[in-house]
Amino acid sequence: MVLGNFEEEVPTAAQLEAAVDAMAMIAARHGVPPERIAGHKDHSGQTVCPGRNLARFLENGWFRARVEARAGPLTSRHKPP
Ligand SMILES: [Zn+2]
Repeated sequence: MVLGNFEEEVPTAAQLEAAVDAMAMIAARHGVPPERIAGHKDHSGQTVCPGRNLARFLENGWFRARVEARAGPLTSRHKPP
């Protein structure tokens, strides 16, 4: 998905878009609502992963908004139209 030390480096636009693609695909497949998207460090006190320069896009809601725009309302995908 993305590889780098984002405590030091800033993710490229292509890396961010690739991350959105992967998140949208996985979220749609598993019915994960965008508000559940979180960082590794949100689930472990042992890491700063994904690093502040990437976590910023989680914390300000950018990833959630982009995934929602890409995938549509995910929770409705499992209901009949
Ligand atoms: Zn991690």
